[in-house]
Amino acid sequence: MIESIENQKLIRNFSIIAHIDHGKSTLADRLMELTETVEKRKIKKRMLDTLDLEQERGITIKLQTVRMNWAVDGKKYILNLIDTPGHVDFSYEVSRSLAACEGALLLIDATQGIEAQTISTIFQAMENDLEIIPVINKIDLPNAEVEKTKKEIIDMFGFSEEDIILTSGKTGEGAKELLDEIVKVIPSPKGDTQKRTKALIFDSYYDEHKGVMALVRMFDGKIGKKGSTFPKLRCVGTKTVIEPIEIGHLTPNLHKQDELQTGEVGYIATGLKEIRNVRVGDTITIESEFDETFKQLAGYKQPLPMVYAGIFPLGSDEFEPFRDSLEKLALNDAALSFTPEVSAALGPGYRCGFLGLLHMEIIKERLGREFGVDVLVTLPGVRYEIKLTSGEEKVIKSPQDLPDPSRIAEIREPWALVEIVTPSEYIGTIMQLCQDKRGLYKDTEYVSKQSIEGHVSRAILRYEMPIAELITDFFDKLKSMSRGYASMDYKFIEFRIGEIVRVDILINSEIVPPLSFLTHKGRSISKGRTTIEILKEVVPKQQFNIPIQAAIGSNIIARVTISAYRKDVTAKLYGGDITRKKKLLEKQKKGKKRLKQFGKVELPQEAFLAAMKAD
Ligand code: GDP
Ligand code: MG
Repeated sequence: MIESIENQKLIRNFSIIAHIDHGKSTLADRLMELTETVEKRKIKKRMLDTLDLEQERGITIKLQTVRMNWAVDGKKYILNLIDTPGHVDFSYEVSRSLAACEGALLLIDATQGIEAQTISTIFQAMENDLEIIPVINKIDLPNAEVEKTKKEIIDMFGFSEEDIILTSGKTGEGAKELLDEIVKVIPSPKGDTQKRTKALIFDSYYDEHKGVMALVRMFDGKIGKKGSTFPKLRCVGTKTVIEPIEIGHLTPNLHKQDELQTGEVGYIATGLKEIRNVRVGDTITIESEFDETFKQLAGYKQPLPMVYAGIFPLGSDEFEPFRDSLEKLALNDAALSFTPEVSAALGPGYRCGFLGLLHMEIIKERLGREFGVDVLVTLPGVRYEIKLTSGEEKVIKSPQDLPDPSRIAEIREPWALVEIVTPSEYIGTIMQLCQDKRGLYKDTEYVSKQSIEGHVSRAILRYEMPIAELITDFFDKLKSMSRGYASMDYKFIEFRIGEIVRVDILINSEIVPPLSFLTHKGRSISKGRTTIEILKEVVPKQQFNIPIQAAIGSNIIARVTISAYRKDVTAKLYGGDITRKKKLLEKQKKGKKRLKQFGKVELPQEAFLAAMKAD
């Protein structure tokens, strides 16, 4: 007993809060190296980024956990790092990983300064009473602005200069000092081994051999072997009973243990097949300790999809492999939802719900990359709540499901609170953008009040905005008009009544259902026009004129025509270069596989992708 309480005092649980690219994964590598968690020669760059896609794009999507040992004054401490994802789409995972910790590193790139997502996460961490260590990273870079960044951190969060640690993930400078500071500043976990067992699930994933793996933070009690078996456990929220196969900790490889004690961070191999039964945010306890009076840990909620799109396999014989791949992806991703949808034009597919645009893109890429399935993704949209004249309430996730307008009493669309952090020189253009996107201005806050010389002061702009507008090109525009300096974050607030209509796109007088979209009435003409203008560029010419129209019901709101194209592709090749001619025809044939037939017109996938970007 004494021993376990002593051990609890030697534990430090922390996460790293950082904007994408500020160097979280690289710094984590240095910490693992210094603590000899992985042998130096085994260190790949950015160990904690597990998906190919993450390594490639240098972003962290899935959180990873690692346990390290570090001695200070002859005492051996256990440091549990819980890596958090750095994108707004995954904010629920961020909040869960914060809940598992007593402290957090606020990591800021000395060449970039503080960004919007970091700010909201840091305030969230402060509200959760986490001890925060501000760290300025990439100090090795010649354009590092350490003093300016220090000032920002001090002004914004009220730290004092001595609190700030300077590091370089590249050279390793400051990493040792940082480990010492973690031990010194971050409190050991509270909790009582004598109480009923409470473990927070902060992440889960599917392992082919061990089933669903729950990553947990022990808050009270313990989970230990009795004889050769583990006691039955229970997920309180989902009421799932678990007979654990194995428990242990991660380095980030799996290391078996016989026991998980209060304060520890580790894994439980459940042997279960359904990731939906082991939900992030749920509380695990021991089945025999459970009764009606049991109170679960705060904060469990189901992640809410914000963006919907239809996904259809491109090849006609690819439906089965596509369905299997989607099911496999969902094994690892409780936030991915899908229901069958059949489109007259595209055949069988699924209507999928995503946390956001990045989440959608990741799923699409993984389908192609990991499973070799080529898919077509329709225009992304949001969920609408509809009240019918009969009083009945409906939720729709697809433009196809919109009831006849005469039966609709009201339509409500999701709104978000958007926070934008920007150097003050871009405020004007950004406010214009927000207004164009139907944003309602809330307020502006200036970050650095007494600006020092050469110091560009920053502002936080707050707007309320329909999510439908956010999931178009908003982010791209924000980035380009601020030369990459502005960043944003958003939170769903509520559904609000809006004047929403469905715009159909007609090619050669036939509706192409996957191109239909729901939009605010005031935006319908301009969106319809942009869409058909883009289609005009990408729809291949045919031997006849093709009219392209945008319509609301039977009312045509915009129209363009693609004029006929008479020459065949090989015409421009003179003489008898047979091989070149053959090659060209070969190439054309290949391209055909990616085409979809609509009436007399074939559409390449590029047409859909281009139309998707239309705004
Ligand atoms: P993350 O998105 O926060 O995990 O950032 P990464 O660790 O993936 O780093 C983003 C980019 O910055 C990579 O190209 C790194 O090589 C680079 N980087 C990270 N830390 C440092 C540093 O301290 N100095 C320099 N010069 N580059 C760094
Ligand atoms: Mg990373």
